[in-house]
Amino acid sequence: MALKDYAKEIERCSACSYCKWIPFDHVKSWRFAKNCPSIDYYNFNNYSARGRYLTSRSILRDEVKITDEIIDIAHTCLTCGACDVSCKICRYNLEPLEMVRELKAELAAKGNYPEAHKVMLKNIKEEANIFGISRKRRGEWAEGLNIKDLTKEKAEVVFHAGCSYSYDKKLSGTVKTAVEILNNAGVDFGIMGDAEMCCGAKIHSMGHHSEFDRLAKANIALWKRAGVTTIVTACADGYHAFKRLYPELGSNFTVLHIVEYIDQLIREGKLTFSNEVPMTITYHDPCHLGRQGESYEAWEGEEQKYKNQIVVHSPKKPRYNGINGIYDEPRNILNAIPGIELREMERIREFSYCCGAGGGARESYPEYSQWVAGERLEEAKATGAETLVTACPWCKTNFTDSLGDNAGFSVVDILDLVRMAL
Ligand code: SF4
Ligand code: SF4
Repeated sequence: MALKDYAKEIERCSACSYCKWIPFDHVKSWRFAKNCPSIDYYNFNNYSARGRYLTSRSILRDEVKITDEIIDIAHTCLTCGACDVSCKICRYNLEPLEMVRELKAELAAKGNYPEAHKVMLKNIKEEANIFGISRKRRGEWAEGLNIKDLTKEKAEVVFHAGCSYSYDKKLSGTVKTAVEILNNAGVDFGIMGDAEMCCGAKIHSMGHHSEFDRLAKANIALWKRAGVTTIVTACADGYHAFKRLYPELGSNFTVLHIVEYIDQLIREGKLTFSNEVPMTITYHDPCHLGRQGESYEAWEGEEQKYKNQIVVHSPKKPRYNGINGIYDEPRNILNAIPGIELREMERIREFSYCCGAGGGARESYPEYSQWVAGERLEEAKATGAETLVTACPWCKTNFTDSLGDNAGFSVVDILDLVRMAL
């Protein structure tokens, strides 16, 4: 798809502004009723899904010059998808999230993107990770763990660590827990070590689709060569890429986030918790594990008007509301840990508020990105919990940075809690 393919859809955006709120029947308080971080922060219509439809229409009609402000309007979208869920609930089957992805791609194809993205893109091209750290160090986190190297040995399951867990030393304890759990469960698995490449989810969300395709095809080829059938990851971004984006490029592997795997082990009685963890916690649904963690097939068909009025799609267009994301599994794990008290936030599951790290905004608009994380932390604290738990390294890092030295409140990965309970 390209931006021009959304021309008809753009005309059908009714300016109702429902995309700026969680669905009204789910609102519990005015304070936490908004869903779109960018309109929330910039407080100007252009920074909403509706505004981005209008901007796109102006670009398609050649009515605007591409200025820095237009670039900001596109790239401050975190591609969190909250607008998409709300819009679908109240209006026709519009796809503001997919449209904004194409808006970013249209701009990126002509070199119109933030400076920070240029650095990330260079790093990806040279070292296959956004940080620019040598790709020869990608497998260092696994040294001494005695994990199979699937470029030389065989196994059914590959564990994809991803950029964050591979390179961020602060997260190495978490990723080692994932390995420990797979080992304890007797899973025959391995890793790709230094040959593993970035999943590409981040640069896809920044509009660099051809570079994403290159990375995805390289990872798919690696897995095919290794003869694996299943991909397990502990990263929500990676999960989203493998589950939702890779199938468009011919990938047909089984994809599991580690929380799905752990939940399954608990239900089968293969994983039990022996330690009490007396903590009051709240759980943050990562956008890419939740509403964007469901399988997705791009619709290609014809949009017609019945009796010149009612929009009909041929063939029928599926509606992706985010309801099939991964929501129950992490909650099942938390509820299985003795001593944990889970207190839910107001915006949860497909209506969750973003952590602020998506769409390349953490790197290009850090002040805004941190503000968004702070907003979510306020909601977390309002539950009375002492700890926010999440299942994504990007969410954890953005929240931790925003929290600073805020005594009395902490942010942990769900795997860290599992480790404490084992
Ligand atoms: S909810 Fe949908 S139709 Fe309404 S303004 Fe937002 S994008 Fe347009
Ligand atoms: S994807 Fe998220 S940040 Fe972007 S317009 Fe939708 S709600 Fe706002």
